Formats: sequence, C-alpha cells, structure tokens
Amino acid sequence: VSRPFTAGERAMLVDSRGRRYLVNLRLDGQFHTHSGVVDHRTLIDRPEGSEVRSSSGARFVALRPTLAETVLKMPRGAQVIYPKDLAAMLMVADVGVGSRVLEAGVGSGALSMALLQSGARVVGYEVREDFARTARANVASFLGDEVHYCVEERDIYDGITESGMDSVMLDLPEPWRVLAHAEGALRPGGILVSYLPTINQVSQLRSRLDASRFAMAETLEVLHRTWHVTERSVRPDHRMVAHTGFITHARLLDEP
Ligand code: SAH
Repeated sequence: VSRPFTAGERAMLVDSRGRRYLVNLRLDGQFHTHSGVVDHRTLIDRPEGSEVRSSSGARFVALRPTLAETVLKMPRGAQVIYPKDLAAMLMVADVGVGSRVLEAGVGSGALSMALLQSGARVVGYEVREDFARTARANVASFLGDEVHYCVEERDIYDGITESGMDSVMLDLPEPWRVLAHAEGALRPGGILVSYLPTINQVSQLRSRLDASRFAMAETLEVLHRTWHVTERSVRPDHRMVAHTGFITHARLLDEP
C-alpha cells in the first residue's frame, strides 16, 4: 500500500553517497547534517522515494526503513543479531503467522522484531531490566503495540514456564543449560535454535544435544558478500563482515 509520510513516523534519509540516517518526523522538526538542514515539513505528505534538498542543496532520498535497516541503526544495549542471521534463523525455526516462540535473552530486541514481523507470538526472557526496556521500546517503535509480545525479567537457566511452544530461540552464552527446560517447553517436533559466537561453545552445545531428546542437529554460518557493480568493474566488495555467529538448530523428539 502506498502511503505518504506523516508526522510521528520514522523516515530514512539516504545521501548521495549512500549513507543512511533515521529521522522521527515532526511538523516543526529539522534534520541537521554537515551538508545543511532538511525541514521535516518538506517530507510530510510526500510519497516514499521522494527526493528532498537540504538548505545547502544536498540531495537526499526519503524511504521508510526496512527491518534490516532499523536493526542496524536502532538504540542497542546488547549486540544485535545481524539481518543475514535473523533471516536464516526464521527459516530454520520455520517461523510463520501464529507460531509460538520463546526467546532468550532478548537483548535489544532485534530477533524479537524479526519474529513478530513474521507473525509469531513471542514470549521473551531477559535477565537485565534495562535491556528488557530497550527491547520493548524498539519493538513498539517499529511495529506498534498490536503485536503479541511479552518480555519477562527472568533467568532462563532457572526454568521455562511456557509449554507447547513451536520453537525456543536462544542468544545467550550457555544454551546447554537450557536444554532440559526446552524439552519441557516445546511441543514434540518443536525446534530449538541457538546463536553462538564461538565454535567452542557450539561443540559444547552439540555434545549436550547428543545426550538429549533433540535430534537432527545442524550447525551453519551465513556468509554475506556484497558486490561492487558498475559498468566497467564488477567484482566483490573489498570489505565484508567476516564473522558474526554460528546457528545451531535441532528438533525435539517425543518421549523415548
Ligand atoms: N538476540 C538479541 C541480542 C541478545 S544479547 C538481539 O537480537 O537483539 C544476549 C542477551 O542475553 C543479553 O541481553 C543478556 O542480558 C541476556 N541473557 C544472558 N543470560 C541470560 C539468561 N540466563 N536468561 C535470560 N537472559 C539472559
């Protein structure tokens, strides 16, 4: 659906060098850069994709930020999961409309936003009260308050109250301490997904999975290499993010 920009929503301004800035539009707002000032008013009532000029003549294109762009720019307490990994995690967990997902720790809420945008109902456990607050605020500012989202301030190593969940998604340092709780929280066939920065942690998790009711374990990483494309030169970009995290997933079997 095409909707012009209105006051109160968030816009992304992209300059001629591709740099991106997020702006919360206000009727009397101004966006200041080293290349001049853009009055928010010049954007309001204009369609997405419009070009605006700053006071010094610099051009900006205005678009609504995607989830990936928002995640990389939003306020964060904890490190967020990169968009490339969020996409893969949604697929391995088979997340769709109405999926019931238990997530821990919630951190800045990047994974929560990806799950909710896909239509899942999410319960999050987060030990740090300040992170829980940041996550709730990030989710509300991107998705509004019509989503099914509840963050509880608690330690998942102490147990999980929910049951019959379709998936349990973990982004914390010792996921093996959650396996017994996840066995009780998931429905048979439910999916466990863990995101870990080091392969030592993955080894530990995989050996604990072998001794659990989980099966079909798989570990993967996502390499995302962008390309430089012009008429005269087409080649991979010189820089890429070489390492983020490893994704491990497994399915819960019924009682042995
Ligand atoms: N996936 C999040 C980032 C999570 S960072 C995102 O995409 O934004 C890891 C989080 O796990 C931190 O906020 C930390 O406070 C939390 N955490 C660590 N151990 C935990 C535990 N035992 N129970 C609940 N949360 C925990």
